[in-house]
Amino acid sequence: MATSSSDQVPAAARKLEGKVAVITGGASGIGECTARLFVKHGARVVVADIQDELGGRLCAELGAAAASYVHCDVTAEADVAAVVDHAVARFGGLDIMFNNAGIGGAACHSIRESTKEDFERVLSVNLVGPFLGTKHAARVMVPAGRGGCIIGTSSLASAVAGAASHAYTCAKRALVGLTENAAAELGRHGIRVNCVSPAAAATPLATGYVGLEGEAFEEAMEAVANLKGVRLRVADIATAVLFLASDDARYISGHNLLLDGGFSIVNPSFGIFKD
Ligand code: NAD
Repeated sequence: MATSSSDQVPAAARKLEGKVAVITGGASGIGECTARLFVKHGARVVVADIQDELGGRLCAELGAAAASYVHCDVTAEADVAAVVDHAVARFGGLDIMFNNAGIGGAACHSIRESTKEDFERVLSVNLVGPFLGTKHAARVMVPAGRGGCIIGTSSLASAVAGAASHAYTCAKRALVGLTENAAAELGRHGIRVNCVSPAAAATPLATGYVGLEGEAFEEAMEAVANLKGVRLRVADIATAVLFLASDDARYISGHNLLLDGGFSIVNPSFGIFKD
């Protein structure tokens, strides 16, 4: 069923009215939740993914006026170029590029057992993908002259060692470098470039990587978290992405927004704080 206007937030409170967004990895998890939230806030969204059935179903639910699904493997430059061109042709421009598609890669953590194939695959999706998304977003945003916003999904692994595989950690840290460098280049065109870095939220990627589902996954994550009594959900990440995409963040660029409840700034081994 198409999203009706009653599913949207009231007009005055909509943060993305009239904006056009591309969301890679938009068929599932963080990307799907963000697509739904963006549409509620008045954006038109192109969902780009390799899970065609899921992505197609999501866009059918959101309605053809608000959402369009395009098959896009973010490691293929022609696919990424085509999805950006589709956004322009279908919705008249591109204001927000959310480079969110990612994979966990092999759950192998030892440098001695990690394979070159897995390392290259993870870098290809998690780093080359956002590079291509940023490149092709800038290709249309710069000449359009109406500014824009590019957001990547990095990770807690961008700030803490020992949280993920070598491949995943390298890709997510390099994505922060890409974010900052692109912000340095594109600021003169009024284009802001930022990323979000979540701790763990229960999505197919994260539960598959950790090997726990649902409640068991969230309990395990809360047990090691700094912030207690709150569990990170995909909606929290989508809300942060909405903030960065909106005018509320109009002077924020080159920023890595950590969504980790303070985990990355605390070394609990000192244990100086007692009840
Ligand atoms: P998810 O598995 O629900 O979503 C990832 C999406 O990316 C899927 O729809 C998948 O089909 C798509 N995808 C994978 N390879 C692709 C490719 N080559 N081309 C296009 N699409 C592709 O997982 P998620 O947790 O929502 O992941 C989204 C992003 O969040 C990823 O970049 C991930 O690394 C990052 N992240 C997730 C967490 C977490 O705890 N869930 C934490 C930190 C960062």
